[in-house]
Amino acid sequence: MARHGGGRGWYGRVAGAALGVTMLATGVAVWTAQAGAAGDASPEATAPAAPGSDVKPVAATIAHASDAGKRGVNITIDDGPDPKWTPQVLDLLEEYGVKATFCMVGTQAQAHPDLVKKVVAAGHRLCDHSVSHNTAMDKDSRTYQSQQILDAERMITKASGGVRPMYYRAPGGAFTPYSRKLAASRGMRPLGWNVDSKDFERPGTDAIVATVERELPNGPTLLFHDAGGDRTQTLQALRQLLPRLKEQGYSFGFPVR
Ligand SMILES: [Zn+2]
Repeated sequence: MARHGGGRGWYGRVAGAALGVTMLATGVAVWTAQAGAAGDASPEATAPAAPGSDVKPVAATIAHASDAGKRGVNITIDDGPDPKWTPQVLDLLEEYGVKATFCMVGTQAQAHPDLVKKVVAAGHRLCDHSVSHNTAMDKDSRTYQSQQILDAERMITKASGGVRPMYYRAPGGAFTPYSRKLAASRGMRPLGWNVDSKDFERPGTDAIVATVERELPNGPTLLFHDAGGDRTQTLQALRQLLPRLKEQGYSFGFPVR
């Protein structure tokens, strides 16, 4: 379980300025702008999402299985969206007719709503990957965990134009029983992974491909990244892996909920 970035990662500085406050009132999370300039509150107040009404709780256990059956594989893409890399990943997925799950960092989604909408329009699914990608958030308070999860949920839902994230993946896998239950109560299935491609470490395209092929027997959920640095190797590895997996009889699906 790689905890790349360690501690408060490379999003921390951005998040400090953008972080909002989540208030729990009558079971409904309410986003309010906090640290921004005066006037920032009004667009937030008119966010299209109306959470609460259409939320169905899901299981709180960490999902790994694929809805595409025994030879199903789930491609999951973390840490974006990123203006340089996400469009290239989207192009590649479209080229091979593959649907994936994008685990988005709240501040990234807030900064690039056009990309969030493109991801949704292409038929991919959204996953809440917290506000600021603190891989030690499991050591922090429940208040902090709640803020990280619910504020990111709100940021992603607003950026998408109202499409809610269907999963919650803790940064670095830093789940707690509390965070899993909270996410599940909001209809976001906790999402793990079976195969860490280690693309984040940029070990070379061949090494990424080899890691995935070696570890695929571990299970169907594969972890890649579309942000956090130069993702050329990720793109090259996916370009090899997607057709190869198809040749081997795998189909591409979504994690179960
Ligand atoms: Zn991540």
